[in-house]
Amino acid sequence: MGNICETLAVDFIDLKSQQALIRERLDARIAAVLDHGRYIMGPEVGELEERLADYVGVKHCIGASSGTDTLLIALMALGVGPGDEVITVPYTWISTAEMIALLGARPVFVDIREEDMNMNAELVEAAITEKTKAIMPVGIYGQTADMTQINLVAQKYGLPVIEDAAQSFGATHHGEKSCGLSDIGSTSFFPSKPLGCYGDGGALFTDDDELADLMRQVRVHGQAKKHHHPVLGINGRLDSIQAAVVLEKLELFDDEIVKRQKVADCYIESLRSGSLEVVVPQVLEGNTSVWAQFTILSPERNAFAERLNLQGVPSVSYYSVPLHLQPVFKGLGYAKGDFPVAEKVGEQGISLPMNPYLTDEEIEIVCEALG
Ligand SMILES: *Cc1c(COP(=O)(O)O)cnc(C)c1O
Repeated sequence: MGNICETLAVDFIDLKSQQALIRERLDARIAAVLDHGRYIMGPEVGELEERLADYVGVKHCIGASSGTDTLLIALMALGVGPGDEVITVPYTWISTAEMIALLGARPVFVDIREEDMNMNAELVEAAITEKTKAIMPVGIYGQTADMTQINLVAQKYGLPVIEDAAQSFGATHHGEKSCGLSDIGSTSFFPSKPLGCYGDGGALFTDDDELADLMRQVRVHGQAKKHHHPVLGINGRLDSIQAAVVLEKLELFDDEIVKRQKVADCYIESLRSGSLEVVVPQVLEGNTSVWAQFTILSPERNAFAERLNLQGVPSVSYYSVPLHLQPVFKGLGYAKGDFPVAEKVGEQGISLPMNPYLTDEEIEIVCEALG
C-alpha cells in the first residue's frame, strides 16, 4: 500500500487522453468565452441546457454550479425545511444527505441492495411518515436505482422523487435516460464523473414547467426578474467556460459509454473465469450502466488491494464508512447494524481502474490481476 497511482502500470483515472482528442475545439470554445466576456450564464449555458434536455428527453435542463448545489436547489424548490423528512440511502457521497440536513430536514435512510448497491425499493414504503417530503434515490457507480418501483411507491403517497444521478448520467432504465425518470433529475460535472467539466458544475432536469421556473429562480438568489426576489435562493449558476467544456465533451460521451462497457465486459469475464472469491457487479434487468466505477465486493479487501497494487493496478474504496455512521450524522441516532447491506458494501467494496481511454495493454494488466 501507499503507492500513488502515477507510479503504477495503470491509471485509475485518465482525463488527459480525452483532452488530447478535443484540445483544439476546447481551446476555440474557451477562447470564444474570453472574447464575448459573458463569463456567468453566457450563451454556452443556454446552448448546453438545450442539448442536455434533448439528450435526456425532458423539457427543461437547468445548469448549476455543482452536483451538490443542484440537490440543494431541488430540495429548496420543493419547499423542504425544518421538521421535514427526506428518504435516501446511507451508501452514497455525503452531498445527498448533507443537503437535506443543511435545510434543517432529516435524512431518513433505507438500506441498499447488494446486487446493485442502490436503494432497496422494497424498504421505502415502511420509511414513509407524515413528515416525508421527498424520496431521493441515487444511481451509484453508474446505474440507476429501481426507479420504476420507487416511483410507484412515491405516486401512492403523492411524494416527489429527486434522482441523484451524479454518477449515472447517460445510463438508461427501461430505455429511458437517467435524469428523466422522475420529477427531478440532478447530476454533477465534477471532472471525474462520467460527463465532467474542468471545475465544478451540475445540472437539473424536469418536465414540470412550474418546478423548472422555481429551480431557475432558486439558482439565482430567488430572483424572478431583476431585483425582484419572491423566494429564497442561492448563487448556484454555471460558468460559461464550464458549459463550453461540457459541450465539447458531450460530443465524445456516447462513444465513451461504449468504451466503458467494453472495459467492464473484460473485467466481468476475467472475474467469472477466474478463481477470486469476489462478488461481480450486476447491471439490473432493464438497466444499462455508464460504469462511473467498476466496484466489486471482496471479503479480504485489504489483502486483495495489496495484491492488485503489487501488480501495478490501483484501486479505491469509496464510502467505507456509510453516512449513518459518520460523526456529522450522530444526532440522527442511527447505530452500527442499522443498515447491514450498506455496512457490508462499505467494508468490502473495492473499485478498479475504469475510464474509456484504458489501453488494451492496461486492460490486459487488470484482467490478469483478476484472473
Ligand atoms: C459527486 C456526487 C455529488 C456531488 O457532486 P459535486 O458536483 O461534486 O458537488 C452528489 N451525489 C453523488 C452521488 C455524487 O457522486
